[in-house]
Amino acid sequence: MEQVSCPACGDNNLEKNTIKKSLHEPYGGSKNIDIVCYTCNFCGFSGDIFNENEKDLQAAIDELKANSVKNILENFQKQHYNFSAIERALEIPQRSLSKWKSASKPSASAVALLKYLHLFPWLIEVAEHKFDFNSAQRIHISDAFNQLIGQMTFNEDARGFETTTTMEVLRLKIEKKFDADLQEGDDQDFGFSFINQRNECLATVQE
Ligand SMILES: [Zn+2]
Repeated sequence: MEQVSCPACGDNNLEKNTIKKSLHEPYGGSKNIDIVCYTCNFCGFSGDIFNENEKDLQAAIDELKANSVKNILENFQKQHYNFSAIERALEIPQRSLSKWKSASKPSASAVALLKYLHLFPWLIEVAEHKFDFNSAQRIHISDAFNQLIGQMTFNEDARGFETTTTMEVLRLKIEKKFDADLQEGDDQDFGFSFINQRNECLATVQE
């Protein structure tokens, strides 16, 4: 090790230690880097005297963010999203996405935008509708509704039904669910009608 002196007391008796630091970036993976720390055996001063860590740390963060952008955009490609269509919707320059994908240091705003689009791809449709509030609400709710339906578990699923719309699938699921409840509780008086409850529920679903 080169002869270095303590910035606090000037003593040469410095000890160099490295510790492993693990970095994680959403959708970009993880990376371990060595963090250097010098300790003065005479006065006890310790720190990154030559600012070695900052450069390595930044390089690792840049690498992970570049991975994140690449992974998100490859995922879009796998799902057959059209880059030009996204660029048009977002009103960003043509070829932006391809440039971001190959950038070694993507901009912080590009990374943030892509993470949102990855989490909520329906935001692209919102942009296609010129960020109109009512359209955005409709798109958002429709997506949430589809997610909800996907998570619903009834005794019977909708397989075998010849249905085309999500609403119709939900209507049939609810109808079957209430029919099943009715059969189970035929001889019991609960003080209210399952049929009325079902019809009210269906009326709500049907718009
Ligand atoms: Zn010292």
